[in-house]
Amino acid sequence: MDKITAVIVAGGSGKRMGMDIKKQYILLKKKEILAHTIEVFEGCDFVQEIILVVSKEEIEHVKERIVDYYHFNKVKKVVEGGKERQDSVYNGLLQTDQTASYVIIHDGARPFITQETIYNCLQKAKETGASIVAVPVKDTIKVCDAESHKVEETPNRDKLWLIQTPQIFSFELLRDAYAYAKERQLQVTDDSMIVEAFGREVYITRGEYSNIKVTTPEDLIIGEAIMSEKI
Ligand code: C5P
Repeated sequence: MDKITAVIVAGGSGKRMGMDIKKQYILLKKKEILAHTIEVFEGCDFVQEIILVVSKEEIEHVKERIVDYYHFNKVKKVVEGGKERQDSVYNGLLQTDQTASYVIIHDGARPFITQETIYNCLQKAKETGASIVAVPVKDTIKVCDAESHKVEETPNRDKLWLIQTPQIFSFELLRDAYAYAKERQLQVTDDSMIVEAFGREVYITRGEYSNIKVTTPEDLIIGEAIMSEKI
């Protein structure tokens, strides 16, 4: 049987929320955002291990108040995050069961992910080696000059997707791609970019618009509404 590990990264500062409390610990329907996220993976029959990545000073708090409190038995390790998101993922990969076949990388700040989407993405990753969850863009996207904001190009909307997590990879592939990226000091905003730079194909799995990343205060209002629909 394939061993599947989920690495959930929650090591960001959450500055854009503008609150004292970090975004992953804000309550939605009386439960921390991070706990909602972990709960989905804990409930996936096909996931054996969860590695949680949080900032160093929060490790004890998260172990006690989230992992133990909600009895998340699949969380095998709570490890320290890094400066950038990619450093946090890398730390998580180092602590992953090295015999894992596939690794699921997911943002702790995306609590509305469904087991069905994770499953679909995993099937695609098993077929191809690498699959990422995304939804088609609804708006027109333009490429602009970074300084003047002069419009340079309007890409064909049919080819544009908004990329979310989970992103699922063969463990061996992601480990090799991360080693490659580390050596070259590549800076990326998602894990797929590392695999793409490594020269391997990545395929999209269509997900749901409700899988938002809770980043700013207005996301909390939308999040409450999404949560009410689900419960
Ligand atoms: O910063 P961004 O919104 O892209 O973060 C996406 C996810 O990555 C969040 O769940 C955040 O906690 C996590 N992250 C991390 N370590 C960092 C930066 C972000 O684990 N250094």
